[in-house]
Amino acid sequence: MQDSVIQFSDLSLNDSILSALDGMGFVSPTPIQAAAIPHLLEGADALGKAQTGTGKTAAFSLPLLNKLDLNQRKPQAIVLAPTRELAIQVAAEMKNLGKNIKGLKVLEIYGGASIVDQMRALSRGAHIIVGTPGRVKDLLNRDRLNLGEVHTFILDEADEMLKMGFVDDVTWILEKAPDTAQRILFSATMPPMVKTIVDRYLRDPARVD
Ligand code: ADP
Ligand code: MG
Repeated sequence: MQDSVIQFSDLSLNDSILSALDGMGFVSPTPIQAAAIPHLLEGADALGKAQTGTGKTAAFSLPLLNKLDLNQRKPQAIVLAPTRELAIQVAAEMKNLGKNIKGLKVLEIYGGASIVDQMRALSRGAHIIVGTPGRVKDLLNRDRLNLGEVHTFILDEADEMLKMGFVDDVTWILEKAPDTAQRILFSATMPPMVKTIVDRYLRDPARVD
C-alpha cells in the first residue's frame, strides 16, 4: 500500500491545476480529496459522503478539470446542484481551480434568471455545465442543451436535491447522458432516497467517507 497522500503534487494532476492550487493557497488535500481524487482520475463511479466544508467541490472538480478536452466545446461534464446559490458557488470554485486552463468555459444555469441569456451562452459553447435540475431539464427539453458528449456526471448535495423533490428530474436528466459517463454522487447524508439512486445508477462505486 501507498503512504497517504500529503501534497496535491503527489496526485497525478497536471501543472496548470497544480499552479492554480498553489495560487489559491491550497497545499494539502483534505481527507475526502485525498481519498476520492485517485479513484475519480481512474474514471470509476464514486460515492462520497462527507459533511459540509470538507472540500467536496475540489474533490470532484480537480479530476474533471484534469481530463477535459479543451478542443471539444460541447458539454463534457455536468454537475447538478440543489439551488441557484450552490450552482453559482460550485461554478466559481471550478473557474478558480481552472483559471490557468486556457479557454476553459464553465457555465452555470439555474432558474430565476433569464433563460434567453442562458440559451445564448449555451450556443457559444461550454465544457462544463453546473446547473439546477429544473432549469437543466427545461433547456434539454428545448434542445438548447445536449448531454450526448458528457463523460462525467456529478450529483452534488444529492440528499438536499432529493429532499427538495427533484428525484424525477434528476433521474430523467441522468438518462439523457451516455450510459458510459462516469457517475459521481456526493452527499452529506445517505437517506433511503439517495441509496435508491446509488443502487440504480452507480456501478460498483468507489466509496469515500
Ligand atoms: P463542501 O462542498 O464539502 O461543503 P467546499 O468544497 O465548499 O466544501 O469547501 C469548503 C471550503 O474549503 C471552500 O472555501 C474551499 O475553497 C476550501 N478548500 C477546499 N479544499 C481545500 C484545501 N485542500 N485546502 C484549503 N482550502 C480548501
Ligand atoms: Mg459542497
